[in-house]
Amino acid sequence: MNTEGDPREELLGLVRSLAERLRTDGEMGRALSYLVREQESVVAAAVEGSAAAEPAVGGLAALDGVREALGDCRRCLLHQTRHRLVFGEGNPQAELVFVGEAPGADEDAQGRPFVGSAGQLLTKIIGAMGLRREEVYICNILKCRPPGNRNPQPDEIAACEPFLIRQLLAIRPKVICALGTFAAHTLLKSEAPISVLRGRFHSYHGIPLMPTYHPAYLLRNPGAKKQVWEDVQMVMQALREERR
Ligand code: SF4
Repeated sequence: MNTEGDPREELLGLVRSLAERLRTDGEMGRALSYLVREQESVVAAAVEGSAAAEPAVGGLAALDGVREALGDCRRCLLHQTRHRLVFGEGNPQAELVFVGEAPGADEDAQGRPFVGSAGQLLTKIIGAMGLRREEVYICNILKCRPPGNRNPQPDEIAACEPFLIRQLLAIRPKVICALGTFAAHTLLKSEAPISVLRGRFHSYHGIPLMPTYHPAYLLRNPGAKKQVWEDVQMVMQALREERR
């Protein structure tokens, strides 16, 4: 497991990834170039070692800034059918971030992530890890519900992922847990089955990332709880090592 590394370098890796993505989007004519300028100024300040860069890249203020930038988002067609945008919730300085796929009906109605039956199971898993839900951060790849809970489309992921990256930049977690196939595929840029990806750590720009089954899958396949428990035990061990 590669958990070692310079936190500044890891942070810069994330920022550069976002800047590159947004630069590409800008070339495609999307109106996101202001984000490129904003992130590039953060990179420049961080590279220069300016203390002034720190408040811009971490903490509650930075997370609030991401929410403000998202606004009443209409960057993809999902805004037409959503009831509530589901940004994410939890500790803005969480050591552990769970990333799921997209809001479902309950989340769309309440504007909060993982509040339906799958969310209740996730809350139980977090409790079994010795943590409270408020101690971690929970969000999704997409902030708006796909109609009928259909699979996210590539253009929707492309439009929404920059804001997930900015959330992770703001929180700076020690470990990320990707819940389900789409979260794992999007974050790892892999198409391998979740059954192959789970059970070991991957690196997300230097941050250890554990893919595991989505709680909704566990509700349909309770036999997979054993594997999820194995995965989250490795997450707990990684967090213990990070605290030493
Ligand atoms: S899914 Fe993301 S990009 Fe699409 S409208 Fe919602 S917040 Fe915007």
